[in-house]
Amino acid sequence: MTYVLVTGGAGYIGSHACKALKAAGYIPVTYDNLCTGWADAVKFGPFEQGDLRDRARLDEVFSAYNPIAILHFGALSQVGESMQNPGLYWDNNVSGSLTLCQAALSAGCKSIVFSSTCATYGDHDNVVLDETTAQHPINAYGASKRAIEDMLQNFEESHGLKHVIFRYFNVAGADPDAEIGEFHQPETHLVPLILDAISGKRDALTVFGTDYDTPDGTCIRDYVHVTDLVDAHVLGLKWLDSGKPSRVFNLGTGSGFSVREVIDQARKATGQDVPVVYGDRRPGDCTKLVSGSARALTELGWNSERSTLDQMISDAWRWHQTGHYEK
Ligand code: UDP
Repeated sequence: MTYVLVTGGAGYIGSHACKALKAAGYIPVTYDNLCTGWADAVKFGPFEQGDLRDRARLDEVFSAYNPIAILHFGALSQVGESMQNPGLYWDNNVSGSLTLCQAALSAGCKSIVFSSTCATYGDHDNVVLDETTAQHPINAYGASKRAIEDMLQNFEESHGLKHVIFRYFNVAGADPDAEIGEFHQPETHLVPLILDAISGKRDALTVFGTDYDTPDGTCIRDYVHVTDLVDAHVLGLKWLDSGKPSRVFNLGTGSGFSVREVIDQARKATGQDVPVVYGDRRPGDCTKLVSGSARALTELGWNSERSTLDQMISDAWRWHQTGHYEK
């Protein structure tokens, strides 16, 4: 039995990772405190409820399963919330990751695949961001993830904890079988909010800012399909398992789309109107985040072929019409 510990396995990306791990022959053990995740989303392996800051509970779980590696998704991830209450992010994300790494080392687990973010780069006007770009986060969410990256670097040098760090761009879409999907409460992400506006679950989508220095005035992001993203994690696990060195990879396609372009594509993909209102900028938002994606493609052999706007929105729409989770 080859167990992999999946922190945040009850969340959007973590649950999709569990499905991909199971398909690749691993047994995903979800470790999640359900603060934003859903027990209903844990369908592909055992569930152990617990908090990342709870060392005793982590020790129990490590000793019960003896996992070969950790996929560490568990984190708070809302830019806006992180600006209002940064302490939450330093406590949950940074302190929680420290406790997790200490528990892993005590248990002899020396491989971690970590979910980081392009928000660690900050605002670099009109530059394509590759893994060597300087990291100057402009919000507390990005700062918390950068601090964890630094910690992983130190823990490798001093304790031999090997890492693959993935810096995600904007994740969207859902499982093509619609077994699992994106369901946050409250929802803050663009694609599910557009679908909520289409289906009448909310009155309209508010576009945050139309005066950015971009061709249509709205922010530009690089969207990645969640199934492509989690496939990269299976490759990351194999990378570490085969003894390759710790490495950082961006996960983005290299194509940027504005908020208005995503809305237009949602109209086409669903055949329905999107009610929109125009509002102020959201604090902490960067103008443009687009990935230099060569490293993951060439070194990991990653394939991002599902990551077209049409596919992401179509898969998200299929899930949106049927799927949701209950507390
Ligand atoms: N956005 C928006 N209205 C919303 C939510 C998001 O205009 O209700 C914009 C946001 O300003 C950003 C893009 O959509 O430019 C993606 O935001 P999201 O929260 O999905 O991801 P983030 O880039 O913050 O990780």
